[in-house]
Amino acid sequence: MKVYIMGSDQRIVRCARVSFGKDNQVDRDRDVKLIKYLLQHRHASPFEHIIVAIEASQDLWLKILKGLPSPAVQVYYSGGYIWFNLRNYINARELFPEELESIMKNSLPATMAILGGKEPEDYSLDKAYLQEKVETSSGWLGIVDKLELETDMDYYTFVVECPLFVARQWHRHRFGSYNEVSRRYVDYEPDFYIPFYLRKQAKSNKQASLEEPIEEPWNSLFLKKVRWYVEDLKALYRAMTEKEVARELARGVLPQFMKTRFYWTVPRVSLDNFISLRTHEGAQKEIREFALAIESLVGYRGADRKLRL
Ligand SMILES: Cc1cc2nc3c(=O)[nH]c(=O)nc-3n(C[C@H](O)[C@H](O)[C@H](O)COP(=O)(O)OP(=O)(O)OC[C@H]3O[C@@H](n4cnc5c(N)ncnc54)[C@H](O)[C@@H]3O)c2cc1C
Repeated sequence: MKVYIMGSDQRIVRCARVSFGKDNQVDRDRDVKLIKYLLQHRHASPFEHIIVAIEASQDLWLKILKGLPSPAVQVYYSGGYIWFNLRNYINARELFPEELESIMKNSLPATMAILGGKEPEDYSLDKAYLQEKVETSSGWLGIVDKLELETDMDYYTFVVECPLFVARQWHRHRFGSYNEVSRRYVDYEPDFYIPFYLRKQAKSNKQASLEEPIEEPWNSLFLKKVRWYVEDLKALYRAMTEKEVARELARGVLPQFMKTRFYWTVPRVSLDNFISLRTHEGAQKEIREFALAIESLVGYRGADRKLRL
């Protein structure tokens, strides 16, 4: 049986630690403790970024589907492979072929040992923080990993840093997994996107903008005000947290130009759907730049064209 695994013990920790903005830190002992904590407290989403594909017949897939303990366990079939993530595996471990277990132990020694009630002896690391990075006008995007077997369920993991309003649009793409910085945990100085110029509202399309600045002196004047308000609100935020206002409330004063960072693990069919919808001229320029950056990194295969709606 051929098995492909995307991710490592560290990947789980990275996706969990992004909540604290500390996704690039490695400390084996603390990492192992964190994996234990996540499992004990059912903080499940970081486990969704580990992807497994096993070469198998559709019959085996159907057998697994029939045995699933809950409809919330998602196991897919595409291109001759059964696809699932580590969360799904943990939820339905006994349904998968026995030989998979030792392969999982090899790739994820710490997590699998903890799952088996043992103290881990090994810990698997990511090869690099990023494979490639692309800057956009409002942030950046990096590819962390990919598992390509020429199927519609090939998987990709990206790290994205973008303004809040771009993240809100992005997270509407439900088919995939996300873990994001939480301003309930962090109170470090936030970073802001300030556009180079203020685009004009389009008249023909209610939601679109034109590739031209509004008239002067308004463009310069409003941009100056935006910068001033951002600095002022940053100072207010700092003063509030220093006087012990809870971070979860103080963050309410931070405007939508604030940048956030998140991990996104997404199957090809959903990625292509994202590229189609977000490279379209109707999409907002800032997210369009990200969709184009993704297309330049991993291409577009048209897997979404098989969907009618
Ligand atoms: C230009 C533009 C403007 C937009 N404007 C608005 C707006 O004003 N307000 C607003 O709320 N949203 C808006 N959206 C968001 C849009 O409605 C979608 O939520 C978003 O594009 C994600 O698309 P999706 O559902 O195809 O992707 P995903 O959620 O990633 O889904 C991927 C695919 O999985 C399937 N799928 C996922 N969930 C379900 C489900 N529950 N039932 C059936 N099939 C499912 C579908 O085949 C879907 O194509 C806008 C999007 C764009 C591109």
